[in-house]
Amino acid sequence: MNGVKVIPRLLRLTPDYPFKARIVSLILSKEPERALNQLSSHYRVQAPNIKIGMPKGQTKRRGCYSASNRTIFLSHRDILYNPYILLHEFYHHLRSQGEKHRGTEKLANEFAREYLVEYQEALEHISEICSP
Ligand SMILES: [Zn+2]
Repeated sequence: MNGVKVIPRLLRLTPDYPFKARIVSLILSKEPERALNQLSSHYRVQAPNIKIGMPKGQTKRRGCYSASNRTIFLSHRDILYNPYILLHEFYHHLRSQGEKHRGTEKLANEFAREYLVEYQEALEHISEICSP
């Protein structure tokens, strides 16, 4: 979690909006399960399990992914609504299909950032339309 601005506004995007923007919108709208289900069908993988509470030895982190039980662990329930962390951990899930953890931290951050950028662009586009 570094270098990403906190998104100032929350907006519910319609299904016409690009996929990544809608996923972020769903997470911020407190529908992380729907977001994870849509992400999983988009990438044709099984949805990950979610557990609140970190495994032993990981308590200093806010999130982690365990490939052996296909589970995203989050330190606190509020992190379910943090698109950056959720998407970062989903990337590990995506890259762990059928094998060991392959995705690097850098790539997981890039994956999450792309979603946030598209969401930000959607917001900017909307504000353009709405200005007088
Ligand atoms: Zn990671």
